[in-house]
Amino acid sequence: MTKLITDVVCPFCGTLCDDLEVVVSDDGKELLEVNNACAIGAEKFLHSQAKDRLTRPRMRNEDGSWREVSYDEAAEFTAQMLAKSKKPLMYGWSSTNCESQVVGSHVAELVGGQLDNTATVCHGSTLIAVQDVGVPSCTLGEIKNRADMVVFWGCNPAHAHPRHMSRYSLFPRGFFTAKGHRGRTAVVVDPRPTDSANLADIYLPVEQGRDYELLSALRVAFRNEQLPDVVAGISKEKIYEVAEKMKNARFGCIFFGMGVTHSLSNNHNIDIAIQVTRDLNEFTKWSIMPMRGHYNVTGAGEVWGWQFGFPFCVDLSRGFARYNPGESSSNDLLMREEIDSVFVLGSDPGAHFPFSSVKKMNALPCVVVDPHITPSTVVADLHVPVAFVGVEVGGCAYRMDSVPIESHKVVDAPEGMLTDEEFLKLVLARVKEIKGV
Ligand code: SF4
Repeated sequence: MTKLITDVVCPFCGTLCDDLEVVVSDDGKELLEVNNACAIGAEKFLHSQAKDRLTRPRMRNEDGSWREVSYDEAAEFTAQMLAKSKKPLMYGWSSTNCESQVVGSHVAELVGGQLDNTATVCHGSTLIAVQDVGVPSCTLGEIKNRADMVVFWGCNPAHAHPRHMSRYSLFPRGFFTAKGHRGRTAVVVDPRPTDSANLADIYLPVEQGRDYELLSALRVAFRNEQLPDVVAGISKEKIYEVAEKMKNARFGCIFFGMGVTHSLSNNHNIDIAIQVTRDLNEFTKWSIMPMRGHYNVTGAGEVWGWQFGFPFCVDLSRGFARYNPGESSSNDLLMREEIDSVFVLGSDPGAHFPFSSVKKMNALPCVVVDPHITPSTVVADLHVPVAFVGVEVGGCAYRMDSVPIESHKVVDAPEGMLTDEEFLKLVLARVKEIKGV
């Protein structure tokens, strides 16, 4: 006999779909089937069943080979490394639950760590812009039930958030959106004709790096003032047409991704996108929302926000929280060689950071906590495999619209494996002993 578990939350992307169904063996030890998830979400669950999966920590020998160690030895090595460091970088925290983020924050406070999450290489500029000018936002449920116009700017949900359009933003029928897709106007702004652009009613192929100009032009068009013939590669007629549709929508939302946050002007692109949203609220109701990637990167910002007052780039080296992106961000710290050890959990900087930063990581004492073998584990001195959060252990995570969602374990982790939180608690206890607190 098998068991069907319903209302399972997907721990892959910031959409945090909570309607998955998972079939497990009678004893709850084997995950057999995943329904309702997209391909990348299903893979996350099925990866946990890999027969060649690592189930115990491993320490690198001098000749580069690995030897198996116990979790206690791994916690001892990690605690000693962090406690002896003057400025340890503690990076990641986005593919784990809020409970682990809280314990990790306590460790960072004790060792004077540099806490940073994956926003530093994705929506950090969004967080800075929101601090500058605020943000008119809403929930994904409101989008589903109310939105009759959606704009996808510099993002490609068809690939990066595959069920976003079907669950919330484009296709579903909601309370006031009974016609579903037929009742919504979709605009995609992207230099590339993506698969999301293929689904749009209006596609604006903005010239690379000129988002700020196009957003400014929309603000001009809202006021029916004069535009040049072409702005950022888009004709003025098209800009006036889109501006008019936006003003006449009943409820709209601008979703934006790294095509805007990491093109020329960075956070200023988001400043002005928020101003566009504010302008629109003089005519009708509009919101704006970042397409967050890692499933709980929003949670990392929330947890540190309530603990330290800052959502990323938190410098605890002086015994109190400081925040200065550009100075206290991971890559800047690595490039300036201000870091003397690296602890990674819930992310893969080996895959996401510039090669020059990864080379710096390679030269430092480095611990990586991750269920998988990744490019980061290749440069680690200690690799600690843990249970899959959201699959083998539950916990709280924040969806991209900042709604907290509680996930539950669906299958047992291999015997003897610790969770992120359990391992961090071992490290915390040992750090307290070393520091005498
Ligand atoms: S869209 Fe995201 S959260 Fe939903 S099933 Fe796919 S990967 Fe998981």
